[in-house]
Amino acid sequence: MSVLSVLYEGKAKIIYKTDAPEILLADFKDDATAFNAEKRGTIKNKGIFNCSISSKLFQYLEQNGIPTHYLDNPNPNQMRVKAVKIIPLEVVVRNIAAGSLCKQTGLELGTVLKQPLVEFYYKNDQLGDPLLTRERLLLLELATQEQVEEIIHLALRINEFLKGFFRQCSITLVDFKLEFGLDSQGRLLLADEISPDTCRLWDTATLDPFDRILDKDRFRRDLGNVENAYQEVLQRVLKTIETNLTVN
Ligand code: UDP
Repeated sequence: MSVLSVLYEGKAKIIYKTDAPEILLADFKDDATAFNAEKRGTIKNKGIFNCSISSKLFQYLEQNGIPTHYLDNPNPNQMRVKAVKIIPLEVVVRNIAAGSLCKQTGLELGTVLKQPLVEFYYKNDQLGDPLLTRERLLLLELATQEQVEEIIHLALRINEFLKGFFRQCSITLVDFKLEFGLDSQGRLLLADEISPDTCRLWDTATLDPFDRILDKDRFRRDLGNVENAYQEVLQRVLKTIETNLTVN
């Protein structure tokens, strides 16, 4: 496979076209941004950590019947993926109240939700990724009614698989963001990444509200030890996969 040209450069990844029209190459960068790119920095080896964590989680989800764009890894910070047209929605699933949910509703940080909450945000930097109602999403024709139903169904299944997986890592899955895309045949695939950049992950055994954080909130809130947290997540993910392989 040879890489042809840059298709798109985002905040955390560069997407390259390849000589195979149905295959793209995602190159994960060490660059970190937060608050709609107002805060910028780098996290050493983040590209490798996030690509490795995402790849393992995509493989785990595929094994459980979730269609993803994942193909393989030519390099530790690179993922070959099926080409999809990304639906411009950030699909957020929440198990525990944190972040914007607390800010916008007054719910106390750490409140365990009675059932998972699926929310849609408009992936649009100029507008600041606003929260969408289903009616607005349909009004803007970002997805069809059927696609919305399928996305919610998939997001809830993914949540169950990921919650279970992270439980085995002694990590509490607080919330996370997903992106979906459509392949050339119109099939809905899970795309983008699942990593400490896109999930809130708390060490289950640690009670201190700062020490327990193993995700991008360490960067957002200048809590230090950012690289260590990402590395710790990767190590636990790898260990859980190894343990499951030995047991099964
Ligand atoms: N998230 C993300 N990209 C975004 C916004 C949110 O990956 O552009 C993730 C975030 O890491 C968290 C979840 O989605 O795991 C919910 O984020 P929230 O709406 O609470 O916003 P935040 O407080 O992160 O701004």
